[in-house]
Amino acid sequence: MSLKAPAHILNIAPYVPGKPLEELAREYGIRDAVKLASNENPLGPSPAAMAAVQAAMANLHRYPEGSAPELTARLADRLGVPPASIVIGAGSDEVIGMLTRVFLGPGDEVILPRPAFLMYEIMTRCDGATPVPVPLTAMAIDLAAMARRVTPRTRMIFLTNPNNPTGGILKQRDFEAFLEAVPPDVIVVLDEAYIEFARDPEGVRGIDYLRERLSDDSDDARPIVTLRTFSKAYGLAGIRVGYGVMPPRMAGLLHRVRQPFNVSSLGQAAALAALDDDRFLQDTLRTVHEGIDYLSAQMDRMGLSHHPTEANFIFIRMPRSADSVFQDLLREGVIIRSMTAYGFPDHIRVTAGTPAENERFVGALARALGKEQPA
Ligand SMILES: *Cc1c(COP(=O)(O)O)cnc(C)c1O
Repeated sequence: MSLKAPAHILNIAPYVPGKPLEELAREYGIRDAVKLASNENPLGPSPAAMAAVQAAMANLHRYPEGSAPELTARLADRLGVPPASIVIGAGSDEVIGMLTRVFLGPGDEVILPRPAFLMYEIMTRCDGATPVPVPLTAMAIDLAAMARRVTPRTRMIFLTNPNNPTGGILKQRDFEAFLEAVPPDVIVVLDEAYIEFARDPEGVRGIDYLRERLSDDSDDARPIVTLRTFSKAYGLAGIRVGYGVMPPRMAGLLHRVRQPFNVSSLGQAAALAALDDDRFLQDTLRTVHEGIDYLSAQMDRMGLSHHPTEANFIFIRMPRSADSVFQDLLREGVIIRSMTAYGFPDHIRVTAGTPAENERFVGALARALGKEQPA
């Protein structure tokens, strides 16, 4: 039997996830490993979210409410946007897929940074459209270069803000110039999976642009989309909830292709509870900011260059191949990401963990590179 898949599917390079803890236990027999590879929350899930999931379990035999109305209403209230502008997905990954399915087809071009989150390219190819990658300049998304690549075929532009893997945030002034330069019918997607961690007051917050425009004249609102997620700052990566905010006209089209029960009842309950658990969010932000500041200081002490980060991870240059450093750290039970697959064979990306996890990473890295141990 021959299985025939179309060429645009065969052209997709599979997504490579961070190494799971279970795999390390199997391969190396290490049981106390720390995983700083997937930008997950160092504090675990919000206790309120866990309690809400427990309570929601009694109704597991029921279908969830398809459009997650309660979560949508709460988000709309918090963000100051109309509920009709919100589409909730099983992770923001799913919203990326809905966007590409609704708006892209063969012949369309999608401008994206390279390197970037792999889902933009995977989903673009899934829908038969053509990715147009634009390299980073000085480790940052080059908005001017991206605007110059717009052609009459350009339908969508993906921007990651703060950027993964480098951690930089777009500046308001640059973003406004970019919006001026890009034709107003091109869809601009700001993926803000890490925006809660951002500290730079001059950094772009996509919601601010949307809020202004949506309250203005929603029918004419420019097609700007902000994607956010419960996977990072809210500690719910395992239960899969994310969302997009966009002009209601666009959201209506996404709802047409959305699977009717795409977000599980447990996911909806967890997200709703996490949203109100402000203490957990504040604890998370404090832990992450202290972790980033500690890691930055330790990298400076070891003379390792790193990129200023507005996210919950740090992008660090290694004096030798990142893959070899990754292997050395793995043997010590510390999982980080080598950036070789992203085109940076001499960089690693490390998620800020708890103080103990960060110290364990720094100790292991110092041993691997023959540097002095921290005081
Ligand atoms: C982690 C991450 C996401 C979040 O994906 P979910 O599907 O919401 O878990 C989105 N974009 C980027 C760039 C990320 O790093």
